[in-house]
Amino acid sequence: KSSLPTDNSTSDAKTGQGFKGHAMLAPFTPGWQTTDLDPLIIEKSEGSYVYDINGKKYLDSLAGLWCTALGGSEQRLVDAANAQLKKLPFYHSFWNRTTKPTLDLAKELLEFFTARKMAKAFFVNSGSEANDTQVKIVWYYYNALGKPNKKKFIARTKSYHGSTTIAASLSGLSPLHQKFDLPAPFVLHTDCPHYWRYHLPGETEEEFSTRLAKNLEELILKEGPETIAAFIAEPVMGAGGVILPPATYFDKIQAVVKKYDILFIADEVICAFGRLGTMFGSDKYNIKPDLVSLAKALSSGYLPIGAILVSPEIAEVIHSQSSKLGSFSHGFTYSGSPVPCAVALEALKIYKERNIVAVVNKIAPRFQDGLKAFSDSPIIGEIRGTGLILATEFADNKSPNDPFPPEWGVGAYFGAQCQKRGMLVRVAGDLIMMSPPFIISPEEVDELISIYGKALRETEKRVQELKSQ
Ligand code: PMP
Repeated sequence: KSSLPTDNSTSDAKTGQGFKGHAMLAPFTPGWQTTDLDPLIIEKSEGSYVYDINGKKYLDSLAGLWCTALGGSEQRLVDAANAQLKKLPFYHSFWNRTTKPTLDLAKELLEFFTARKMAKAFFVNSGSEANDTQVKIVWYYYNALGKPNKKKFIARTKSYHGSTTIAASLSGLSPLHQKFDLPAPFVLHTDCPHYWRYHLPGETEEEFSTRLAKNLEELILKEGPETIAAFIAEPVMGAGGVILPPATYFDKIQAVVKKYDILFIADEVICAFGRLGTMFGSDKYNIKPDLVSLAKALSSGYLPIGAILVSPEIAEVIHSQSSKLGSFSHGFTYSGSPVPCAVALEALKIYKERNIVAVVNKIAPRFQDGLKAFSDSPIIGEIRGTGLILATEFADNKSPNDPFPPEWGVGAYFGAQCQKRGMLVRVAGDLIMMSPPFIISPEEVDELISIYGKALRETEKRVQELKSQ
């Protein structure tokens, strides 16, 4: 038990009404955990590590929430924030007013993204806002073009695009929909491209991709191509389980999307800025998107900021339409706020100076090969990853069709074993996810692998015990 202050209960001492536990309605947290368990309270960070309020040190294998790419103590980002806070803590970007860091960052992002030419950057505060905004941009674009029937979006099962109303609708994960009256009716979901889980007996990766592209085409034809506005995809699916596209997948999907005049939105919120060993996921998989969503490593997670990159064709239509209407009436108080922009500019400067893609590619084999060496564990179904992102999926008999009983809590047990030994991982059922900071050292990778190995051996024993009961 952590040494939480004892007065953190929100219940009324006299009546006993209200709740035990802390005062926060906690995101993505089961209610019972906030009352029955003390939260892990993180107090400070240093490089690849975070420390809790009791001083215990943890290797942060998920880089916060896949975001602190430069680790938890990059002084240059702190200095950039401080300098901007002193000079101009806030100004907005409405009505053709803006700030210098905002304009500089927009220009810099357009230069960073080279998978195809982009014309404009629009600023938001998060990945969810980025994807919500994508939907509005796409509708605005097609309305301006006189194609008002193009309203539907196709996303994929197991995708994660955020948790605001529209972004949660785009996401293909049922917990984000259940009890929230979602998804919105204009969102359709097509196949998750997870070869290990969904391929047919004897089907190659290429054949699997061909089948998925065919299914997508059938969905488009069934709905009517004139009603489909855009397709959205993460180059590597993140929160849904680090799912890498099978060979030829994006070539085949892009061909279908193009054939029916459907826009392609690349959700690069996790994949951008080097995570996959390329500057963007679009570079790795030869994706030529019309729109791109960015967040997380854009500021190395230090301040909330997201961005959308807009193709020249769409930017041109928005420009002429908004000139007619008086404005492009969309934006947030903090769209392009100067302090997050200054931090993001500094992060991009560091990525360039240090050749962050080369940094990731140098350390990635140690991380990937070291962990994939555990693939033959009898409780592991699949270990998958690329660059500095990886997932372990527990399963019996190496089969996606033989999950362990959920009440065994195999993933949670593994996660607790890691935590006990000083490492934080992401647990989602029997799925363990990791995406360490890009600055992780070889010694830290070895420590990560060592803790993983010990936690795995303990979990194997536990499964043995449970099986023999
Ligand atoms: N898109 C992707 C691919 C993400 O991984 C996330 C967050 N994990 C989001 C969008 C939403 O970002 P945010 O939490 O900043 O709203």
